[in-house]
Amino acid sequence: MKDTIVLYPVPGLSHLVSMVELGKLIIRHHSHGFSVTVLLIQTDSVSNPTVDSYIDHVSQTDPSIVFHRFPALPKLESSTPSFLQTIRRNNPNLLHTLQTISNSSSIAALVVDFFCYSAFPIAADLNIPLYNYMPTGASGLSVFLYLAKIHNQTDKSLRELGNTNLDIPGLPIIRAAQMPELVLDRNNEFYDAMLDLSNHLPKSRGIISNTFEALEPRVIEAVTQQMPAFFCIGPLVVEPIDKSTESDCLKWLDAQPSRSVVFLSFGSRGVFPAKQIAEIAAGLERSDQRFLWVVRSPPPDSDKRFSFSATEDFDLDAVMPEGFLDRTRDRGLVVKSWAPQVEVLSRESVGGFVTHCGWNSILEAVCAGVPLLAWPLYAEQEVNKVVLVEEMKLAMPMEVAEEDGIVVAAEVEKRVRALMDSEEGTEMRERCREMRKKALAAWAEGGSSKTAFTNLAESWERR
Ligand code: UDP
Repeated sequence: MKDTIVLYPVPGLSHLVSMVELGKLIIRHHSHGFSVTVLLIQTDSVSNPTVDSYIDHVSQTDPSIVFHRFPALPKLESSTPSFLQTIRRNNPNLLHTLQTISNSSSIAALVVDFFCYSAFPIAADLNIPLYNYMPTGASGLSVFLYLAKIHNQTDKSLRELGNTNLDIPGLPIIRAAQMPELVLDRNNEFYDAMLDLSNHLPKSRGIISNTFEALEPRVIEAVTQQMPAFFCIGPLVVEPIDKSTESDCLKWLDAQPSRSVVFLSFGSRGVFPAKQIAEIAAGLERSDQRFLWVVRSPPPDSDKRFSFSATEDFDLDAVMPEGFLDRTRDRGLVVKSWAPQVEVLSRESVGGFVTHCGWNSILEAVCAGVPLLAWPLYAEQEVNKVVLVEEMKLAMPMEVAEEDGIVVAAEVEKRVRALMDSEEGTEMRERCREMRKKALAAWAEGGSSKTAFTNLAESWERR
């Protein structure tokens, strides 16, 4: 009977795909032959139509990865539980499932997404080695590790500290206000949870991170010094879901000249108010560059920069400025809601990527050797931007107006031109190509990620 590695992701698409890629790695790259079970929490609050089709796809192409769905929880009468409460409320399901799996197989490790840290006591009770999986890089991880330290140094919230420079080991200077939105204010559920996580992380058997040494050398070293074991096994990038069906946007890209198109896409959840969409449109129009732009319908709350429920069914003409689509028809394509990003970035015609700095998007661009324009929207993306621009030098910054959080058309025009058509942009593209080679080298024989993964698998065997 094979030993099992149990993976416990949160339901959001980007965290799930990253962990499933880890599952594929475990199955394909290890001679010991672990089996892999992925636990799935059921929730309506985080829905994405692509999640189910992704799971169906993996079940067909990698049948050795077993998905186990927890039963749906009864609805609470008094309130809608938060994301973290939902994870905690699933603890009985987790316990029951681990006990059931243990009846027929030995669990070599429980690997939990960092949001699922409430699994700690259950793993301890069952004597199962627990590892944390960070779908973010070492930079994002170091920020959460630092939280416990700053919490003990001051009574003020990070929001109050505002422009105070934080000296986080291994990172360029980060201003307090650039820390992840979730932890800017004290005394809320997420702050408490992330603080708890910050204290728990050093107690796990090890942290696994989707990054590689050549990408974040300084911060990886800093984290390694703070953690019992730190395994950098990236870059894990989701495999294209269906290579046979070429979508219209890929056909359009294939008809464009080499490195001529700037791609704009803001993760699985990024949204903009109508005013911001109009500024982007005006900036793109004036930039004279070719573009492929993924647009979502503006959210009802114009301050929000992410949405779990943006509708795919909306009238694009009503959202775009009048006449824009006609005027740019011969050099631009706007797609609604979703584009096959990994395939898009791999196209020869794509020469730059305007991104919200989600970690998967960053790795996908790195693996394609495409330079970035960094426009963070939520989560740890402000930190990622600082690291991309100042440390890795793989991105240019997009500057947001402080008064209203809007990037004006002139800024979009200026930065897109600089990325696509300037000496600085050309140098950056060269650096990105070099980083792409290093990403490939990380998984070549003797490469840093391959070695880290071998060490990780051996630690599971030795447990
Ligand atoms: N993605 C995509 N098409 C889109 C938008 C997003 O394929 O139009 C994918 C993207 O390739 C990446 C994931 O969704 O794998 C987004 O993950 P990321 O960590 O960048 O951002 P998040 O969605 O977590 O904010």
